[in-house]
Amino acid sequence: MARSSIVVLTGTGICPDGGIMAAHDGDSLWERQLLEEVTVPMAYRQDPLRVQGFYNARRRRLADLEPTAAHLALVRLEAAWPGDFLLVTANVDDLHERAGSRAPIHLFGELLKARCTECHHVHPWAEDLDFSSCCPSCATLGQLRPHLVWYGEPPLEMERIHAALAQCSCFLALGTPGHLHPAAGFLEDVPPLARTLVVSTGPGEEASGFQEHRAGPADSEVADLVAELLAAHGS
Ligand SMILES: [Zn+2]
Repeated sequence: MARSSIVVLTGTGICPDGGIMAAHDGDSLWERQLLEEVTVPMAYRQDPLRVQGFYNARRRRLADLEPTAAHLALVRLEAAWPGDFLLVTANVDDLHERAGSRAPIHLFGELLKARCTECHHVHPWAEDLDFSSCCPSCATLGQLRPHLVWYGEPPLEMERIHAALAQCSCFLALGTPGHLHPAAGFLEDVPPLARTLVVSTGPGEEASGFQEHRAGPADSEVADLVAELLAAHGS
């Protein structure tokens, strides 16, 4: 821990309208069941086109969302932080990228990527997916699925995340409950002397293992926190 290394985990609490995968008024009962995630793998096996349609609609809606003040504050932190910086997000949108974050890890995948179930290549994908979608790598039709982690599938890049957590001096969980996974699991890897802080408005944070808990609007809480961190490090 000679250098100040920081790991930041973000969740839907920093997103507008609760995030792109939040339920909204137009969702049918079937779509609401899909949002529970447990049902996704079976629904995809039974009716892949219908499941693709569900994600196509959300992918299209991404363009309506804008990065928040919290996203922008994290760009300032990354740019000015004097040590190692790793941003991990549980969100599947591209708001960190659009704000200007360099290379966030998407723990649960990305709506704007498609994975071929035939050759396993992952491709940037902004269009709808259906049976006519062709894999740019192997040219197979209809075998592209959203590059998302569905129920029962392992989160992405966990080795790299574990390694960063194990040598960090500060772990921040922002807009995600500290007492639940993934934040609670990440906390187990953090060295005992590292600073740990959670920004979350949900109940149950008192019982989480984080040293500090801040509740309030994510935009102002994250902006204030970033200003404090940079002032403390003379940046
Ligand atoms: Zn392929």
